[in-house]
Amino acid sequence: MSSAPSTSAPRTVLVTGGNRGIGLAIASAFQRLGDTVIVTYRSGEIPTGLNGVKMDVSESASVEAGFKEIEERFGSVDVLVANAGITRDGLVMRMSDEDFGDVLEANLFGSFRVAKAVVRGMLKKKSGRIIFVGSVVGLLGSAGQVNYAATKSGLVGMARSLARELGSRGITANVVAPGFVDTDMTAVLPEDRRKAIIDAVPLQRFCSPEEVAGVITFLASSSASYITGAVIPVDGGLGMGH
Ligand code: NDP
Repeated sequence: MSSAPSTSAPRTVLVTGGNRGIGLAIASAFQRLGDTVIVTYRSGEIPTGLNGVKMDVSESASVEAGFKEIEERFGSVDVLVANAGITRDGLVMRMSDEDFGDVLEANLFGSFRVAKAVVRGMLKKKSGRIIFVGSVVGLLGSAGQVNYAATKSGLVGMARSLARELGSRGITANVVAPGFVDTDMTAVLPEDRRKAIIDAVPLQRFCSPEEVAGVITFLASSSASYITGAVIPVDGGLGMGH
């Protein structure tokens, strides 16, 4: 089967922003499966036992340098998880162009940069998995997050276009759309907002990073070989119907 090389361990898996939060849980899950896992990091430490490559996905030169190192040390990437992302929340009337642009650069343009960089190798192998970490708010919308929500719905269009462009070459592209996950990103939410979210979620709790990782390793597995252009919610039912 043409998808075999990228769906059986050991694969070369790249997780952007894999040094903490959801990305670290994803990287650790692939490592437990026996894959060669590379995480990108911008500063600080590379998590123990993982391979690290310095990369700021908002900077084209940094992405180029990072991929040069990846190719030299590990060869081509079989599974890309574009996870790196930021928030710069604020009501629309007060949102600066800079806050809109920074989020766009990291979440959407950054995902494009890394997806583009892995495609050549995947085309050669005629197989590959591209997985974008979106968000429930990409389809649901979120007051105070016009920048962030726009990038996350943008990833849906990007994944579906890649799915159409690359499907004939055995490459799949999907989005995983988590709800609220316990990480540094949500640790800043005030207690009343946190309670309101939990009240709105049918499963009545936040998600764990490991619950997101489980769906991503599934999408990279041979069991998901016929899934492409999909948006898979991991949101406790929050986004149902969207
Ligand atoms: P964290 O803030 O805990 O971690 C973000 C990660 O992204 C860090 O590793 C960070 O690196 C990296 N990162 C940010 N910007 C860049 C950049 N320009 N270049 C390279 N790396 C970068 O966030 P989460 O783990 O919570 O979020 C991970 C993904 O999941 C994001 O895309 C987020 O939008 C999405 N998500 C999160 C949800 C949540 O509730 N937490 C819900 C839905 C989606 P560094 O350590 O260097 O800052």
